[in-house]
Amino acid sequence: MTDELLSISEALDLVLEHVAPLEAEEVPLAQAAGRVLAGPATAAVDLPSFPASAMDGFALRAGDVPATLPVVGRIAAGRPSADALAAGQAMAIATGGVVPDGADAVVPIEDVEERDGVVVVPGAVEAGSNVRPRGGDLDAGDLVVAAGTLLGPVQLGALAAAGVTRVSCTRRPDVVLAVTGTELRSPGEPLGRGEIYDANGVILATQIASTGASVERLPPVADDEAATRAAVERGLAADVLVTSGGVSVGVYDLVRATEAELGVREVFWRVAVRPGKPIAFGVRDRTLVFGLPGNPVSSLVGFELFVRPALLALQGHAGPRPMFRPGRLGRPVTLVGRDSLLRARTRVEDGSVVLDPLTGQESHMIARAATADALVLVPRGDGELAAGTAVSYLSL
Ligand code: AMP
Ligand code: MG
Repeated sequence: MTDELLSISEALDLVLEHVAPLEAEEVPLAQAAGRVLAGPATAAVDLPSFPASAMDGFALRAGDVPATLPVVGRIAAGRPSADALAAGQAMAIATGGVVPDGADAVVPIEDVEERDGVVVVPGAVEAGSNVRPRGGDLDAGDLVVAAGTLLGPVQLGALAAAGVTRVSCTRRPDVVLAVTGTELRSPGEPLGRGEIYDANGVILATQIASTGASVERLPPVADDEAATRAAVERGLAADVLVTSGGVSVGVYDLVRATEAELGVREVFWRVAVRPGKPIAFGVRDRTLVFGLPGNPVSSLVGFELFVRPALLALQGHAGPRPMFRPGRLGRPVTLVGRDSLLRARTRVEDGSVVLDPLTGQESHMIARAATADALVLVPRGDGELAAGTAVSYLSL
């Protein structure tokens, strides 16, 4: 029976087939953190753009030493010498200072003795030592960051150093988030009998924002046709509609039928994964429509497997698929007929990651999941996987 369901990777392929990157826009570098580069970014200057000293020391000609040399100038970072260095001379120089014309080496301050206007250099020095040549890191016009790269601190720093002020980034997707369920109350409201606090709203809003997308969170949607229709209509104006709840087979599960009435073409419904089987994905025009199950752990897992990759691909990310890493089980687990994602805690033992699945793996147990920092992928099967078995996991 479950064999007829799509596997995780088949479903993910279907999602990604329906995603095209959004348009590019120019962004000042200071606002580009967390954005994805739409085209290659090249250096505006040589890096370094002058021969720079790597040490505090003395600039000189390697061929002149060992010797005692007169100190004819002092160079600070940002304060180059107006004069060239002549044979038989030295200039004091700070790290990052411009190595003067005529000098070909810097000898570190620790290796010499300075007194009375001279510097005593007791040993030989190789030409080029402690000099960072112009263009040694990059030349102007060279690629600094490739298209499809997520801009984090390292990439932004490289771009800033290379004199880049504006970059072309893929537009951030607009996501409408609607949690459904008549029983849902927002935290802070009193709970009537049978009511529960909405957990998925904050979980999914946080997950969406962490991809770089912008999220509009609707108030919880009651399980009636008018309310569901209003929320879905609102979401269909966005790049992506994410709902939670109401996608199973109960009489109050109205999301899929309402979406179909509003022209959403369903690409799939249900995936062979535990938790999160009754997940739905469809499209209408350019809007991607994800229906996540209501149980909080199911919705969280469904987001990581299918929605996050779509939101990254919309932004042109070169590697949008979930990044599974290798680890091994800290204790045995029982296999079931579907690929499972178990909430687990990681620890490092002998240099490799060990995953301890938490007790309480049911899909409504979001509070138990609070100590998890990983989702372990356990393949379908019967019997048991022994402690120590190699598995893969997603970081949370
Ligand atoms: P559903 O998928 O709508 O059948 O919901 C499955 C279970 O998840 C039910 O017990 C719901 O009460 C619960 N649930 C649905 N939405 C949320 C939510 N936003 N926060 C917490 N629990 C939810
Ligand atoms: Mg419901």
